[in-house]
Amino acid sequence: MKKCFKCGENKELELFYKHKQMVNGHLNKCIECTKKDVKDSNYDRTEKGVVRVIYKTQVRNSKARKMELPSYTKQELKEWLYKNNFKSLYDNWVSSDFDKYKKPSVDRLDDFKSYSFENIRLVTWDENRAHQNQDILNATGTSGRRCKAVIQHDRYGNVLAEYHSYSFAKRTVGYSFEKCLKNGTPSRKDGTYWRYKK
Ligand SMILES: [Zn+2]
Repeated sequence: MKKCFKCGENKELELFYKHKQMVNGHLNKCIECTKKDVKDSNYDRTEKGVVRVIYKTQVRNSKARKMELPSYTKQELKEWLYKNNFKSLYDNWVSSDFDKYKKPSVDRLDDFKSYSFENIRLVTWDENRAHQNQDILNATGTSGRRCKAVIQHDRYGNVLAEYHSYSFAKRTVGYSFEKCLKNGTPSRKDGTYWRYKK
C-alpha cells in the first residue's frame, strides 16, 4: 500500500505508475490523480480553458486585494476577449508551443481600480509582466520622474485629461510623449500637449 499525496488515499502499489527515478520505483501520485491532472492541464490550454482561468484569476485577485469583483460575468468577458483580438493571441501562443510569455493575459490600466471593461486590456503574459515591473519601479521611486501626475492639454492650456503617472498615461493613450513633456511641443500623434502637474 502507498499513500497518494494528491488525494490522500492509501492504494495498492499497482495503482501508481512505475517511475525508475522515484525512491520506491513508483510516482507518489496515484494513476487516477495523474490522469486527472493531465486532463486538467490540457483543458487549461484550450480557448475555453484560458478564458476560464483568466476570469477565475481576476475573481481571486479582486478578493485578495479586497476590491470589487469584476463588473462583468465570465460570458461577458469572453465576448469582450473575442472582440479584442483574443483569437489571434491565442493562436500565436499555441503556435509558439505554449511559450508562457506569449500566453494571452488581461491586465488593468489603472491598478488602483477594479476589473471593468473601461480598465482592462488584453496583452501577452510578457507585456503584463513588463507593466508590473514598471509599477514596482514607480512604487520604489527609483524612477521618480514617472511618479508625477501628468496633464494633457490643448494649445490654449485647457486641460483635456489628468493621469496619475507618466506610465499610466502612456498606456492609456498608447504612445510615448517624453519629448513633448521635455520640450513642450505638441504630440505628433494627436496634437495635444503634455506637462507635469505642479
Ligand atoms: Zn490520488
